Amino acid sequence: MKIGILSRNKKLYSTRRLVEVCEQRGHEVRVIDTLRCYMNINSSKPEIHYRGEILEGYDAVIPRIGASVTFYGTAVVRQFEMMGVFSINESVAITRSRDKLRSLQLMSRKGLGLPKTGFAHSPDDVQDLIKMVGGTPLVIKLLEGTQGIGVVLAETKKAAESVIEAFMGLKANILVQEFIKEAGGADIRCLVVGDKVVAAMKRQGAEGEFRSNLHRGGSAELVKITPAERATAVKAANIMGLNMAGVDLLRAERGPLVMEVNSSPGLEGIEQSTGKDVAGMLIDFIEKNARPNKTRTRGQG
Ligand code: ADP
Repeated sequence: MKIGILSRNKKLYSTRRLVEVCEQRGHEVRVIDTLRCYMNINSSKPEIHYRGEILEGYDAVIPRIGASVTFYGTAVVRQFEMMGVFSINESVAITRSRDKLRSLQLMSRKGLGLPKTGFAHSPDDVQDLIKMVGGTPLVIKLLEGTQGIGVVLAETKKAAESVIEAFMGLKANILVQEFIKEAGGADIRCLVVGDKVVAAMKRQGAEGEFRSNLHRGGSAELVKITPAERATAVKAANIMGLNMAGVDLLRAERGPLVMEVNSSPGLEGIEQSTGKDVAGMLIDFIEKNARPNKTRTRGQG
């Protein structure tokens, strides 16, 4: 097969691993810098141009689109779809997953376990918003944040009010969320491929840190997940319409709660902590499922 990996950097672990697996299996593989793809929208035949040539003959693409290039990146993926090229994650699903609020709304409609979450515009509604999510301690999240930046724990009502008002004053969009204390600064990252969790790791925040992000000094280890966690992760990826997803769960007393669904999950932490060949399983999925013009808008919203 001819497979394109849409990635800005050949040297990243995930990109390197995907290239390695493709080569081992005799596929033709190329790393395509997403931001160097350009397209002629008016042409009756959809095309992608790249450093002066036309990209042709691809059977599948694997988008690895960073949060900062979502808009341009999804336009490139969409153009591949217009050309009939199979993308492991479709552009609409990537766009959907990048909006934390929209994602939570879609998952709540399907009855998935979620932390109680509120969203408001006016500072006049802050008191009631805090009450709505069960009071303090609570977590305040910038909608545009990634890697744990813009996620704040407010322990008291006074702290919560002032942080929420400050963010609102800056016109930042924020979510207010129930704090899941019993998660103990840990979360579970489930790597979903197709309708299976192929690897799962527990990430534990550094001492005194409630955020478990590896970028914030957290550590990861292999974890055995429960059937309920497995089912929740698969359902979350499915609702978002993602064939490949990193689903982050919090272990709450009332069961697994979905915190986030990531459409370009990193492979380094999960492969190293679980010893699983996740890149191989992604390529297996492509070998089984990539057909021309197979793109369809899965999920809704
Ligand atoms: P980001 O997308 O920036 O990583 P997250 O929403 O995943 O932001 O939050 C970062 C980390 O903070 C999570 O991995 C988790 O450990 C912790 N966290 C987030 N929300 C909650 C919550 N409601 N209760 C307890 N811990 C949370």
